[in-house]
Amino acid sequence: MKLSKRLSAIKEMVPQGSVVADVGSDHGKLLISLSQDKIILKGYGIENKKAPFNRLSKAISDEGLLEVTPLFSDGISELPSDVNTVVIAGMGGFLIVDILKSHSESLKNVKTIIVDAHNSVDKVREAIVSLGYFIKDEKMILEDDIYYEIIRFDIGRGEPLDELDISFGPILRKEKSPMFVQKYQNEIFELNNLLSIDNLPENRRNELEAQKERLEALL
Ligand code: SAM
Repeated sequence: MKLSKRLSAIKEMVPQGSVVADVGSDHGKLLISLSQDKIILKGYGIENKKAPFNRLSKAISDEGLLEVTPLFSDGISELPSDVNTVVIAGMGGFLIVDILKSHSESLKNVKTIIVDAHNSVDKVREAIVSLGYFIKDEKMILEDDIYYEIIRFDIGRGEPLDELDISFGPILRKEKSPMFVQKYQNEIFELNNLLSIDNLPENRRNELEAQKERLEALL
């Protein structure tokens, strides 16, 4: 199963020998690849909508994978008790937080949570740390001109996170990979474009200047 760069980065963070629930599994590609490469012992693909659920069920049965089960349910509300790793990818940050927080009791046996939030990544870091996990790994991926942040959380306490860690990622901002630098240089370039507009209201100009200074300090 050929995976996109984004799904490959998620796959690389899945612990060997784990039992995985992929929440919002849709096409099922991640679980199929994890199972075919014998990375997971067992997988559950969770979907709460008919069309993606049918697509997922068909993809799993077409591949003849007996250790991957499609489940029609909402988020982690009926998470099987043998699941020790949860993946939630390809959704907005607020939806990911809602899925995890509204049934956090289901996480009692979950040691690892891997997320790919397409926005509000700061809210996701904050929420999952507040559930008793720490950031074990982070990767930034550029695909189709979009930057993705893939984060693995493991159960336990890590170093306390400050506001910059929550916003930009404790590992990403220390690593400062060329991709990370490029992403925020692009944002500074856009801020400069906005700041070059004549007649910008003063409070807006101050706000943009502050954002620019924050990013420049980061690099
Ligand atoms: N995870 C795949 C990926 O990253 O390529 C597919 C992402 S797709 C954009 C998001 C999927 O999440 C949709 O198929 C949607 O039906 C599913 N979804 C959204 N909310 C959900 C929920 N509460 N429970 C289960 N699935 C959900």
